[in-house]
Amino acid sequence: MSPRVVSIHYTLTDHSGQTLDSSIGQEPLKYMEGAQQIIPGLEQQLKALKVKDKKKIQVPAAEAYGARDDRFVMDVPLEKLPVKDLQVGQQFQINADPNSPPFVVTQITTTHAVLDGNHPLAGVDLTFDVEIIEVREATAEELKHGHAHGGDGHHH
Ligand code: ZN
Repeated sequence: MSPRVVSIHYTLTDHSGQTLDSSIGQEPLKYMEGAQQIIPGLEQQLKALKVKDKKKIQVPAAEAYGARDDRFVMDVPLEKLPVKDLQVGQQFQINADPNSPPFVVTQITTTHAVLDGNHPLAGVDLTFDVEIIEVREATAEELKHGHAHGGDGHHH
C-alpha cells in the first residue's frame, strides 16, 4: 500500500500557550508519511487520524527539535566576526556546510559576542492543535520524488 499524503491545519503553541506558528489563513500543510517532511513525534501521532479528526497533540522536545546543547553556544571575540555593527538576532553560517543551522547572536558585550547554534525550538515542548483536512494515497510520482505534490507542496 502507498503511504498516505496528509493535509492538516495546525496551530503550534509552547508550554505558556504562546502561538509559535500556524497554518490558519493559509494553505494546509501537506506531507507524505515516511518522507520526514514534518517532525517525527508529530507524524507518529497523526498516523491514527482520519479526515475531519481534530486533536491536541503534545510533542516533547526530545521528539521535536531535541534538547538544547551547550556545545552549540560559543563565546567569540568581536574582532573574529566579519561585521562592524553587530546586533542581537543576527545570524551567521559558521559551518562550511550550507545545510547546517545558522548561529544566532544572543548577547553582545564590549569584547565578545555569544553565538547560539541551537534550533530556536530546541528544548521546547510543543503542542499542536491539528485538524485533518485531506488524506489520499501518494501518487507514483510523489513516491519517486520522496515528497508530497500540490497545494503548498512541491511544484516543478
Ligand atoms: Zn517532486
